[in-house]
Amino acid sequence: MISRRRIALHSLVALSLLGIPLGARVTRAADAAPAASPPRDILLVSFDALRQDHISAFGYARPTTPTLAWLASHGTALRDVVPAGLSTKTSLTSLLTALEYRSHRILEKNEHLPPAITTVAEALREQGYATAGFVATPHLSAELGYDQGFDRYEDFAKTGEHFVGAAEVRDQVLAYLAEPLPAGRRARFVYVHILEPHPPWLDPSPWLAGKEGGKRIFSCVEMPPLAKVAKITPERLTNLIAKYDGAILAGDTALGAIVDKLRETKALERTVIGVTTDHGLELLDRYSASHGWNPFDEVARGFVVLYDGSRRWGPAPKLQARNVDVLPTLVARAGAAEHPAFQGVDVFGAASRVPEIAIAEGNHCAAVRTLSHKLIWIDFPPDIPFPASLRRGFALFDLRTDPGEKKDVQAEQPEVFAKLRDAFLAFQKDVAGKVDDPADPKHQQGLSPEARERLEALGYVE
Ligand SMILES: [Zn+2]
Repeated sequence: MISRRRIALHSLVALSLLGIPLGARVTRAADAAPAASPPRDILLVSFDALRQDHISAFGYARPTTPTLAWLASHGTALRDVVPAGLSTKTSLTSLLTALEYRSHRILEKNEHLPPAITTVAEALREQGYATAGFVATPHLSAELGYDQGFDRYEDFAKTGEHFVGAAEVRDQVLAYLAEPLPAGRRARFVYVHILEPHPPWLDPSPWLAGKEGGKRIFSCVEMPPLAKVAKITPERLTNLIAKYDGAILAGDTALGAIVDKLRETKALERTVIGVTTDHGLELLDRYSASHGWNPFDEVARGFVVLYDGSRRWGPAPKLQARNVDVLPTLVARAGAAEHPAFQGVDVFGAASRVPEIAIAEGNHCAAVRTLSHKLIWIDFPPDIPFPASLRRGFALFDLRTDPGEKKDVQAEQPEVFAKLRDAFLAFQKDVAGKVDDPADPKHQQGLSPEARERLEALGYVE
C-alpha cells in the first residue's frame, strides 16, 4: 500500500536529486527572434472529471460538446493523454507544473505547491506573458500556493462553500479578457479550470426525464458502500447520466462564450488553445461512482483538443501523451520557450522524447499505460468495500483487442507484463525514495476551516 504521508520537495537538495536544474534561466524565444515574432496568447482550459466517451466531439450520441467539436474540427485532438493522477490534486499539479507525479509527489488535498517548483505560469511570465488563472476547484486555491506565477488569480475562495459553476467562472474570464494587455507584456497566458462535469451536477440537463435528486452517491473521496451502489436502479442511473451530460454541456457552453469573446476582440486568431480534463469518472461501469479509486480507462484515459487559429496543426502524432505534455505543447506552438524544469515536452516537435509508458497514480491503485496495453495495480486497504469483480495486485489488458479492459492477459503476454510491471516498480521506488523536508513547515500545514468546507461541499469528505 502506498504511504499517504505528506511529502515536501522544496529543499535544494531534493530538487537536485530530481535532476531539476537549479537557478536555470529560460532561454527566451525573443533571444532567437526578437520583437519581430512575439509569442502568441495561450488559453488552457481544463474540465473536471470529463470522460471522453461522453464527448460528442469524439462521437458520443448526445450533443454535449459543440464548442469542443468546433475547436477540434478546426484544430486537432489527442485521444490518449494519461493524467499524472486519477484525482484532481495530483493531475492538475502536473498539468500546471509540467512535472510528473514521481517528482512533485503531491497527492493529498491539503498539500501546498512548494515555492521552489517552477510553474509553467512562472516560466511564461519570465518571458513577458501576462498570466491569469480562474480556478473553480478548492484543490488549486491560492491558500495552497497554486497562484504561483499568476499576476491575477481568482480561486473563488470568497464565494464560500457553494459550488462554483461554469457560468460564474465564465463571467470572470470574460471581464478579464475585456481588459487591455498590461503595459510591457507581450502576450497572455490564461488558465481556466471549470468544475463541471464534476458532481454535484446542479446545471439543468436537456436529457433529464423527471426529477433526480441522487447526487451524493457520486462521492469522490471514498468508494461508496457496495450496498448503496447496488440500490441504484437502471432507471436512476439513466437519470444520473443525463445530469452528468447536462453538466458537460454547461461547461462547454461557458467555453463557447470564452471563445466567442476572443473572436469578438480579434484575439482568437493569435490564441493557441488547449482543452483537457484532469481525469474521467466512473459511472458504475464496474464497481464505483468515483474517480481516484478507479485505474481503468473511464478515468485514466484523458485527451486534449488543440486549436491554433487558421494555422493547421497537421495530423496528430500516433502516440500516447501525458498530461505534463499539454502545456509544453501549447508553449512551443505559441512560439514561447520551454523551461529546463519542464518534464513534459512538445508532442508535435519532440515526439521521440515522449516516453512510451505513462503512469497515473490513484488512491491505492495505479494505471500503467502504453498506446497498446494497460497494466493496473490495485491494493485497496481492508477497511473499504472491495468489489468482488476485482482482485488485489496486477492485471494486464491488451487495449488493441480489449479496450473495455475485461480480460487479464498476464499469462498470455508475459514479456509485456514484465516490462510494465518493472516500470511500475521503478516508479514506486522513486516515489517511496523521497523524504519529507522538515524545513518546510508550510507544506505540512493543514487546511483552513473555510477551505475544508469548500472541499466537503464537493464530496471530498473523510
Ligand atoms: Zn478532478
